[in-house]
Amino acid sequence: MRDKRFYEFVHRQIPVFITLSLAPGLGYLFLGWLNDIFTPAFVWYLLVVAGSVWGITLYRNFDFDTMSEDRRNRWYRHCSWFFYTFFLLWALVFLLYVGQKATNLHYIAIFTEIGASVVASSLLSSDRRLYRPTLYILMVPLIVYFLLIGEWYGYVLSLFACTLTWVLLYAANSSNQLLMQATYQATHDALTGLHNRQYFIEHLQKRMNTLAESGQFSFLLLIDLDHFKTVNDSLGHDIGDQLLKSVVSRLQQHVPDGCLIARLGGDEFIITGSDCVDCETCERNSLEISEQLIARLKETYVVGQHHLYISASIGVSIISANSINANSFIKEADIAMYEVKAKGRDGVFMFNEEMSDRVEKHLEIERLLHFALANEEITLHYQPQFDHSGRIMGAESLVRWNNPELGPISPTQFIPIAEQTGLIIELGNHILETGFRTLRAWRDEGIELEQFSINISMRQFTHQNFVAQVKHLMQRYLDADLVHKLVFEITESIVVEDVNRVILLMKQLKAMGIRFSMDDFGTGYSSLSNLSRLPLDEIKIDRSFVGALSLDEGHRAMVVTILNMASILKLNIVAEGVETAEQLDFLLCHDCKIFQGYFYSKPLPKEAFVHFFRNRPSHGQQAAHPG
Ligand code: C2E
Ligand code: CA
Ligand code: CA
Repeated sequence: MRDKRFYEFVHRQIPVFITLSLAPGLGYLFLGWLNDIFTPAFVWYLLVVAGSVWGITLYRNFDFDTMSEDRRNRWYRHCSWFFYTFFLLWALVFLLYVGQKATNLHYIAIFTEIGASVVASSLLSSDRRLYRPTLYILMVPLIVYFLLIGEWYGYVLSLFACTLTWVLLYAANSSNQLLMQATYQATHDALTGLHNRQYFIEHLQKRMNTLAESGQFSFLLLIDLDHFKTVNDSLGHDIGDQLLKSVVSRLQQHVPDGCLIARLGGDEFIITGSDCVDCETCERNSLEISEQLIARLKETYVVGQHHLYISASIGVSIISANSINANSFIKEADIAMYEVKAKGRDGVFMFNEEMSDRVEKHLEIERLLHFALANEEITLHYQPQFDHSGRIMGAESLVRWNNPELGPISPTQFIPIAEQTGLIIELGNHILETGFRTLRAWRDEGIELEQFSINISMRQFTHQNFVAQVKHLMQRYLDADLVHKLVFEITESIVVEDVNRVILLMKQLKAMGIRFSMDDFGTGYSSLSNLSRLPLDEIKIDRSFVGALSLDEGHRAMVVTILNMASILKLNIVAEGVETAEQLDFLLCHDCKIFQGYFYSKPLPKEAFVHFFRNRPSHGQQAAHPG
């Protein structure tokens, strides 16, 4: 297990060894000159200098971030030989000096050998294969030297030397273990034992360097479990943790050899694939593997007494030779994964440029939206609502954003972004205030409506200040009569929140006189039982149902069922998106009461709405069909 820190540690030791050899080496050269062994000492020093040059080359050739795996392994092998050679040279100088008559040289040689052993055991402790042979190279000659003295103190000294060898080995082993442990912890995830994000990014960088050399391709799979949070929230983190472990063991079983799996955090995993010669094979392989993984992950998990099901969303990005940095690939896979999530989860998508354009557009919208209110780019349009006699009985306010750079942007694009960023609170307040002012102004101009609908997004609705804010704006702009015309349109997604809290909030607002409408009815996933608990006044049949009325019997039956249900629950019902006379006739025949759609009018700016209202024949004069 060698990571960046390991290599950098070894790399740092090279200049230390060179310095520790070149400088004291001069002293040994001088000793050699004093003791008539200058020539061998000089040759020895030349070897040290040559070794140092080799060391400097190794030191300069190291660049972790751009080296391929192969090159790095080769570099490390050369480094090992460099260290062995250096200590062999120190063992040589020992042999040279103990071969001399002068006892002072013997003392120096013995100290040199012990000193070198201490240096080796401490500075090379990162790798057993480095410090073990080195210690033997240094200590065995010393032990043999003591034995060869042939006296009792020689035997005692050789025993001491053996003990010292053991102590040095023991110390180096201990440091090595600590180092390995620290490295393991820094590169692995504690819960699953998989590699962590940091290690993965290093690994990916290595892979990219290798691919850049070979011109081959590989792939990244970013796996995110769907609705894992629900398991954690409902069954507790222990069960969540065990589920994660089971997921990991399935991943490990079903990922082909040569792939590396890591946990990016939470319920996100990432896998690098094996190499492929061409891009098409790589794409095919990655999709095949992803499909298999999704199928395996979906099989039932038994955790404690629970039988759990979980699906996964996978984003794929292809790693090619002309790659820049590891993080950009993870980001690409992330974009593809979010695309899967947005399209309903439980699937695979391969990253493409179009996706990144969309993400860029998204970011651009997010950036410009921050200034939209201050720059007065946000306005409201109003779409009239009609009763069965064709009279304008209400209006729905719909927000519009016209940006000088981007042009008009649909609320279906920017409202979700405003929700994600929290801007919806400010924007929602502005919409409420503008709507209230319009309602007031219209009444003052003699435009009487029965209802005035405003779309409220979930995040805005559940914000702690919402009720207080509504109350404040009501007091400022409306009287009791006008308040009773207000209808707040909410969507089924609101039920995903804490239903009891939602009901409480709705009741507070209803007590103030506001009515509630369920927008886009029939498109959500909420259960009828949950819906029937909400204190609703109105349902809006989603325009997709109205639009499909002409298509087949099934869609017609669906609309009739919704209409019947509304009548049983005594709810008003609005059909939105009415575009043709046929649709209107069908709805009229089935007792639908309120209509809204292009058939009558598109959403209109404030003044245009007034004009439209004034220029329609007064009610009762004509049937629902416009003139
Ligand atoms: P929605 O509440 O379902 O609004 C109805 C959408 O259908 C509007 O699109 C409207 O212009 C369009 N529409 C009306 N009649 C027809 C028709 O006959 N045929 C077709 N094809 N479409 C028709 P718009 O204005 O683009 O709004 C889209 C969505 O954006 C709204 O759907 C609503 O969910 C959201 N939205 C709009 N204004 C606001 C707002 O002020 N606050 C919040 N929170 N959301 C808003
Ligand atoms: Ca609406
Ligand atoms: Ca709607």
